[in-house]
Amino acid sequence: MTPREIACAELVELLTEYLEGALPPDEVAVVEAHLAACEACRTYLDQLRATIAALGSVPVETLSDEACDVLLAEFRRRR
Ligand SMILES: [Zn+2]
Repeated sequence: MTPREIACAELVELLTEYLEGALPPDEVAVVEAHLAACEACRTYLDQLRATIAALGSVPVETLSDEACDVLLAEFRRRR
């Protein structure tokens, strides 16, 4: 079964749980399929991981609308 396709904004919402290992396997497949195809989200994930490493926990605050806007702006810029 092919994982469903999701928008970048939806991926951002799944990333916290993805990094916590809290997503069910089918959702993990959805996230990884998107990351494989989307450089902007891979970059965002790297930044998120670096932030988590610095803070020692998942920074819920960075998953605000503002972070989402930054990501989407970046995504549009690369097109
Ligand atoms: Zn994306």
